[in-house]
Amino acid sequence: MLAAAIAALMLTVAGCGSGGPEEGSGGAVIAVTTPVLGAVVKDAVGDAATVEVIMPNGADPHEWRPSAKDVARLEGADLIVQNGLGLESGLTRAIAQAREGGVPVFTATDHVDVRTVKAGEGADPTDADQATGAKDPHFWTDPTQMRSVVEALPAAVRSATGTDIATPSAATAARLTSLDERARTKLDAVPTSARGIVTGHESLGYLARRYNYRVVGAITPSLSSQGQLSAAHLAALEAAMKAAGVRVVFTEQGTSPQVASAIADSTGATVVELATEALPADGSYVTYIEDISRRIASALANTGGR
Ligand SMILES: [Zn+2]
Repeated sequence: MLAAAIAALMLTVAGCGSGGPEEGSGGAVIAVTTPVLGAVVKDAVGDAATVEVIMPNGADPHEWRPSAKDVARLEGADLIVQNGLGLESGLTRAIAQAREGGVPVFTATDHVDVRTVKAGEGADPTDADQATGAKDPHFWTDPTQMRSVVEALPAAVRSATGTDIATPSAATAARLTSLDERARTKLDAVPTSARGIVTGHESLGYLARRYNYRVVGAITPSLSSQGQLSAAHLAALEAAMKAAGVRVVFTEQGTSPQVASAIADSTGATVVELATEALPADGSYVTYIEDISRRIASALANTGGR
């Protein structure tokens, strides 16, 4: 017991950690910003290091702010894994500070095929978030993009901590390949005419791109859940839904239930909750993708398209 504790302590010192808890069998501490990304990093790292997730599950990553203790956890890590592209806007300063203090930062979206807002696609071109070329941070709704991140992780973990995660990360990558195939099977069951998606904010662009769905609009016309609402936008959204025959509104963390039900009332749509930015009860990313693809497929197959 004592020997193990001393060994863990020494590994932590060797990995230059300065205060993270020494649980798990590995000494290195990897701090991950969001729960969804954290679940995958945990799987890819296995027992080789300790993974700490900074944001609580269910928090809205676009608006969550860290406590002094959370900032200390970031500063005490051997490696920080962040989503990037402005998703964790409340953590920007804390991560910059940790980086200045010598903590390496791995940015997941540096390793994905980033989706950008196309000309004419943004609902409000005066919003920086909606301008042509704005970059979408929600890559995790496409398991093949998540796999690209997992494939890039071993080199970063090795260089930051000296830890080898080649074996567990290869197993994770293989699981993501079969997860993608299962998601496609579910989502392929929806007829093309019923594949219009309306969400709380613009969170499903990567899923739509991967599985040939169409983002018709969002209640908050923004890549952030913190975008602004206007009566003109809601009227345009209702018109677009009617034109496209969209009969389902998917709501998420940060969606106003009052606004969602008002849109549902005036378009005859059904409101379906979708946890696009939180893990399911079992804490698994595999279950997360299976749940959202099943919920989307069953909601649209039953009520979407006309
Ligand atoms: Zn979001």
